[in-house]
Amino acid sequence: MSRVRLAPPFFVQIRSGSVKTRSFQGGIRIDDFKRFTERKPIETLPPPPKAYLPLKQNAGSPPRPVVEIGAEVSAGEVIAAPSGAVSSTLHASVFGKVSAIADHPHPSGADSPAIVIETAAAGNGFSGMEPMVDWEGAAPEDIRARVLEAGIVGMGGAGFPAQVKLEPPPGKKIETAVINAAECEPFLTVDHRLLLEETEKVVAGLKIIMRAAGAARGVVAVESNKADALDRLERALEKEENIFTVLLTVKYPQGAEKQLLKTVADREVPSGGLPADVGCLVHNVHTATAIADAVLHGRPLIERVVTVSGFGLDRPGNFRVRLGTPFSRLLEAAGGPPDGELRLIAGGPMTGVAQRDLGTPVIKSTSGLVVLPPLPRARNLPCLRCGKCLTVCPMGLVPCDLARAAEKGRREDFAGLSGADCMECGCCAYVCPAARDLVQFIQLGKALEE
Ligand code: SF4
Ligand code: SF4
Repeated sequence: MSRVRLAPPFFVQIRSGSVKTRSFQGGIRIDDFKRFTERKPIETLPPPPKAYLPLKQNAGSPPRPVVEIGAEVSAGEVIAAPSGAVSSTLHASVFGKVSAIADHPHPSGADSPAIVIETAAAGNGFSGMEPMVDWEGAAPEDIRARVLEAGIVGMGGAGFPAQVKLEPPPGKKIETAVINAAECEPFLTVDHRLLLEETEKVVAGLKIIMRAAGAARGVVAVESNKADALDRLERALEKEENIFTVLLTVKYPQGAEKQLLKTVADREVPSGGLPADVGCLVHNVHTATAIADAVLHGRPLIERVVTVSGFGLDRPGNFRVRLGTPFSRLLEAAGGPPDGELRLIAGGPMTGVAQRDLGTPVIKSTSGLVVLPPLPRARNLPCLRCGKCLTVCPMGLVPCDLARAAEKGRREDFAGLSGADCMECGCCAYVCPAARDLVQFIQLGKALEE
């Protein structure tokens, strides 16, 4: 179905199915592997017998515990409170008793302090917040306070506290709120399913975000491999004057904030800058649904949808689970971990982190669990000077030289090559015929700069 509406000056006018998709310089075109789960409706799993809730679930400072061992808690009750300006709130994700506060494996790969709750055998205690029925007339700071109270962070993977992003920095104005529905990482289909199954909630979340940030305009940017979701969105937005859709080329990393804004708004976020520097704010689809739940229904963030996909799984799918659910339960729901040597990645295969322990829990930013074959053994061969890494770098960097500077500990060379601008998308490593661990070298270089 086509809609003809006037678009703001710097956006293309979108008519579903009738326009060219838009994209950015660099990046790679790879098999998206969405076919494993894109048609699998979201399935809700029961609460785990024990929920492991790491304090570290947001960028910035982790919240501090406000419960003690032995405390009885309802699902939705605050168990850790914000500890600084860039922090968040953490809630019990199950009804039960706090049995430990101790180090536990974390999706980042290191052990980290976690509050462990043993789920009660019977009962279903839940404590939420009062819905904000008058949110359309509410002050932006009251909505931001609700988002903090609900413990919402960027659910696409970054984990940045959502209320901080919603507040325009001093002297800046947010004109446009963008919902990032690119979901450009291979395998992941959480955002796709939410766009299809919770379309109205995504739109409500965007409107609340616009109110909280003072943005006059909203955009939902969708990659063209989600045509069904785009169609549904277009219908939901039919009466909206200030919300637009933009169709994106399927290319990695289309969903990286800088590349997304270049594509959607033709604006370049300066080096070291923020979307607010170009009058924009970007939030993920699942963050928008969580904000809608918190404001409209008084629900804190205690669960999320995770794609479990990859090779050798009998039942890959999209599962809604309580935070703190161990990865082992998700793999069981997907038919059990396949036999043989494998790699389990939390997040997408391009930017995710390899896991070593199936007891590691789902946290607020866990968008996927992907099972991949082991890496080839021959790695880090000498650089061939082929230049492939240069051609795909979406930031216009020279990855081979950055890696060499980092490897040799040449901090000034690394800084001179703008190493800090690397967003660790992995495009360079993906195309490197010498299988060089370019991203790991660049991470090393960034550590030298600190
Ligand atoms: S240098 Fe950084 S930004 Fe450029 S392709 Fe490699 S990982 Fe991506
Ligand atoms: S792609 Fe690999 S081999 Fe080619 S120049 Fe870059 S680092 Fe060297």
